[in-house]
Amino acid sequence: MDLIIRDARILRDGELVGVDIAVQGKTIAAIAPSLAADGPELKAEGCLVLPGLIETHIHLDKTCILDRCRLEEGTVAEAVRETAAAKRGFTVEDVYDRGKRTLERCIGHGTMRMRTHVELDPGIGLIGLEAVEQLARDYAWAIDVELCVFPQEGLTNYPGTEELLIEGLRRGARTIGAVPYFDTDPREQIDRIFAIARDFDAEIDMHLDLAETTQGMQIEYVCRKTEEFGRGGRVAVGHVTQMSLLPPERFGEIATRLANAGVAVTILPSTDLHLMGRSHDHVVPRGVVAAEPLRKAGVTCSISTNNVLNPFTPYGDGSLIRMANLYANVCHVSRPADLASCLDMVTGSAAKLMRLDDYGIRVGAPADLVCIDATNPTDAVATLAQPLWGFKRGHRSFTRPRVEIHRHTH
Ligand SMILES: [Zn+2]
Repeated sequence: MDLIIRDARILRDGELVGVDIAVQGKTIAAIAPSLAADGPELKAEGCLVLPGLIETHIHLDKTCILDRCRLEEGTVAEAVRETAAAKRGFTVEDVYDRGKRTLERCIGHGTMRMRTHVELDPGIGLIGLEAVEQLARDYAWAIDVELCVFPQEGLTNYPGTEELLIEGLRRGARTIGAVPYFDTDPREQIDRIFAIARDFDAEIDMHLDLAETTQGMQIEYVCRKTEEFGRGGRVAVGHVTQMSLLPPERFGEIATRLANAGVAVTILPSTDLHLMGRSHDHVVPRGVVAAEPLRKAGVTCSISTNNVLNPFTPYGDGSLIRMANLYANVCHVSRPADLASCLDMVTGSAAKLMRLDDYGIRVGAPADLVCIDATNPTDAVATLAQPLWGFKRGHRSFTRPRVEIHRHTH
């Protein structure tokens, strides 16, 4: 064997099992307790080993631009305005350099699969797309990056945008996104996106229902379109902060609707906490939609980073475990099983949302392995456990040494 990982704990059908994992080439060759195999060994020391973390929703093209923007209101409108202004100065090299900084942070925190949104419109043209395509190629040794092209500044209101989205899909983007609330008629944008997705057999991943009241929600319309176009299981929506303002009965109705239509939900806790509640000067709503009742209704949910160091989210280190912990803290998640489900939303459920068929620790799967400094998923989320090392397709991709305490005896 090329590598044998000893004394790992992995999740198998939701249960923790202690195993050794043997890797040959790029693939997991054997998994068993006390495996009889020869080769270089690495001790996991009873720690949790995961098949890599999954970022289903991030924006590499507009990351790390805080130094070019002014933040005063902290509103969605300001974030869009400031980012659009900064965007005018973007070049391929600039997008590449900033995207690289955030991508390397993500890799160093154990992320091995990613769907990144890329803005296309006549202003930016293909600059963002070219840079992110290059990043995806240059970092393929550490992470699988999938592109989602989308019209951040509007589709039907911004002539020329649709042609660019189509160009992006022709060049290989697997997913098309949307921001319906930026067009005069949000439903017209939703209709166009579903039509384009059908033509290109693309996945759909929309920014949806990001607002501070329950007026004008489009989520049920998206469910209807998903059914009409027969795209159940291939549609995801991010944010849906408006749902967090609904009483349980109405929330439950929509949860059932989402589950039946096959529409997944991505929770973006850091962005939503930053952008929501700005119209309140006390009793500020959190604006983060709760995953537990959605999951109970059968909705696939993921937790993701969305933005790092820009006007949409002036924070970030690319850590998905931190994001899972933040979500748990904000949404009052405290029972051990529910904390464990927060880890699932950055691993197994995230893979389901992205339809990654080859994800998981099993014989024949890619040797994507990340060791977390915890013995179980609940502790991993509760203690913000650090990833210690990772292998992507059998090759070591990062190491994060544990803290060393220098004890004085006098
Ligand atoms: Zn986003």
